[in-house]
Amino acid sequence: MGSCAAHAAASRGARVLLLERFDLLHQLGSSHGESRTIRATYPQPHYPPLVRLSRRLWDDAQRDAGYSVLTPTPHVDLGPKDDPAFAAAVANGGATELAAVEGGARPKWAEVFSVPEGWTMASSELGGVMKATKAVAMFQALAVKMGTVVRDRAEVVDVARKQGEGTIVVRISSGEEFHGAKCIITIGAWTSKLVKSITGTDLPVQPLHVLICYWKVKPGHEHELTAEAGFPTFASYGDPYVYSTPSMEYPGLIKIARHGGPPCDPNGRDWSIGPGEGGLVEPVARWIDEVMPGQVDTTGGPVLRQPCMYSMTPDEDFVIDFLGGEEFGMDVVVGAGFSGHGFKMGPAVGKILAEMALDGEARTAMEAGVELRHFRIGRFEGNPMGNARSF
Ligand SMILES: Cc1cc2nc3c(=O)[nH]c(=O)nc-3n(C[C@H](O)[C@H](O)[C@H](O)COP(=O)(O)OP(=O)(O)OC[C@H]3O[C@@H](n4cnc5c(N)ncnc54)[C@H](O)[C@@H]3O)c2cc1C
Repeated sequence: MGSCAAHAAASRGARVLLLERFDLLHQLGSSHGESRTIRATYPQPHYPPLVRLSRRLWDDAQRDAGYSVLTPTPHVDLGPKDDPAFAAAVANGGATELAAVEGGARPKWAEVFSVPEGWTMASSELGGVMKATKAVAMFQALAVKMGTVVRDRAEVVDVARKQGEGTIVVRISSGEEFHGAKCIITIGAWTSKLVKSITGTDLPVQPLHVLICYWKVKPGHEHELTAEAGFPTFASYGDPYVYSTPSMEYPGLIKIARHGGPPCDPNGRDWSIGPGEGGLVEPVARWIDEVMPGQVDTTGGPVLRQPCMYSMTPDEDFVIDFLGGEEFGMDVVVGAGFSGHGFKMGPAVGKILAEMALDGEARTAMEAGVELRHFRIGRFEGNPMGNARSF
């Protein structure tokens, strides 16, 4: 989000400094690894416009970079017919229920799934896989091309208003200070800690330890489950909520993982997730055996496991807002709480954050029909669950 915001601000002619606590492209936060999915099927109607805006911005960035990070694929959602969240996602994303698609028009990949009794599946055209680390590197490179200065191993420890001058001072752990007119804070799982220390406010952004699992495709099915063969990204509603990308990054392996994980402290992570692997492996294996029988070998568990972090809000909606208060007003903007589904919207979120910082409002969001009121910090005042609702 920070790299996208830096690129967006620099594209507007702003002089931008991008600070990163660890090495550039490290694997300790939320945006590393081989793949992320894009889809417009969301139970909450405020996300599809943001996804569509982002989809256009992904194309713009790829064109400017001269290489691609997004492989378009179909997307499929599976879920119980009577699950209101599933039904809302299908409706909001304009997906087509496959039960309604007959004979020859039925995609070949549909045969891979053994849809449980009472369930259905719906496919949509807006889907795809982004190469995650490559995409972050692309936005950093584009930002640098526009004049952004990037400093890594620079942990921000304080953000304050410089008395008398009105500028915002950002201090890093070495003691060095940087002065600017505006500041955008996009520090993922570390957001609550820094915001608490600079404003005293409790922002409900909970880091979770999550696991990306790659499973071995059974011999003979390797090609069938690839993006080249037209296999979709998918999300499966119910318990466990499971998502997947087609076999791409490691030939013969497919990523199928559980959405969510146990709470963690980003500064003191226990890389082993303990007994039962936090429920992140075995329920996925059972889901695979039931819903994709004969396709994927679950004996012995996943072949590769990669840890990652979510920053969850209680309602899984983002936080995109001015930090506010007398000290910061509209000069410090925060983007956080992307709750395990923000990557696809990074370019749109970055542009919105940059416009909020530079203009005091995000015109792009308004034009795209994206309502930012869902992302205000104030939604938690007197209401710890924010926008949470049962569908
Ligand atoms: C396993 C997994 C699968 C996912 N799948 C999808 C998906 O399929 N589709 C999708 O859309 N989204 C997905 N997401 C979610 C998406 O990846 C995240 O929402 C997004 O990457 C969050 O980005 P961020 O910039 O908020 O956090 P980060 O990428 O963690 O960036 C925050 C940065 O701030 C730095 N930082 C922290 N503190 C400081 C400080 N004090 N000073 C300076 N720098 C600091 C950190 O080092 C880090 O680099 C997934 C996430 C995970 C973990």
